[in-house]
Amino acid sequence: MSRVPLIAGNWKMHKTIAEAEALIQALLPRVSAADGVDVAICPPFTTLQAMVDSARGSRVAVWAQNMHQAQEGAFTGEVSAPMLSELDVAGVLLGHSERRELFGETDRALAQKVPAAFAAGLLPVLCVGETEDERERGDTERKLRHQVQEDLARIDPGQLGDVVIAYEPIWAIGTGQTATVEQAQEAIAFVRALVADRSPQAAERTRILYGGSVKPDSAAELLGMPDIDGALVGGASLDAEAMAAIVAAAIP
Ligand code: PEP
Repeated sequence: MSRVPLIAGNWKMHKTIAEAEALIQALLPRVSAADGVDVAICPPFTTLQAMVDSARGSRVAVWAQNMHQAQEGAFTGEVSAPMLSELDVAGVLLGHSERRELFGETDRALAQKVPAAFAAGLLPVLCVGETEDERERGDTERKLRHQVQEDLARIDPGQLGDVVIAYEPIWAIGTGQTATVEQAQEAIAFVRALVADRSPQAAERTRILYGGSVKPDSAAELLGMPDIDGALVGGASLDAEAMAAIVAAAIP
């Protein structure tokens, strides 16, 4: 089965509304001819409505960077899945390593967030990945198994294929140090095998992205690997030219 390539840009805590508007206006014409590629941006909460309005009718989907698992409640500072779908946001990053490492995001919460996203009509994009220490200790597969199994435990096999997973080795995020294509392919094939343990059909459909210092000059080789269905791009997504070049590298 052929999976539609997907390139997503994580803008992290960058861009005011005016700056985000300038970036999306530079990006839209540069990706408008990228037939056969799905494109998404993940701007900060405060810019979501403006980005949804600007991207309407284009190939660019707008995703959030995080959400709370409850629909509503006494959770000061949090935003729920129904609040995002009310804005016409299409998806949400869940379990980004910065959320896990800096803000105490747990696998237990993620096991609730993934179904909560689906329930609100959002595409859940689950991020997983090992630290440098874990890779050096030979613990990469153990870490990925733990995250994939626990975070997706409440998703039934019929829905598993709709989840997007981003494999992001933590040592490669924002460091300029990209995993080799062989390391990325091997880890992503392993993640796909974990999904196949639950449902071989889902494993064929699930799009699994690579993330970690993807740049225009490294994109084509990564995207050429059999199990790598796209990229989650941080730093380079803040430059419309670079993001568009990565999208172009994904055109089938
Ligand atoms: C990310 O934040 O998901 C990411 C991959 O960042 P960068 O591309 O900057 O390493």
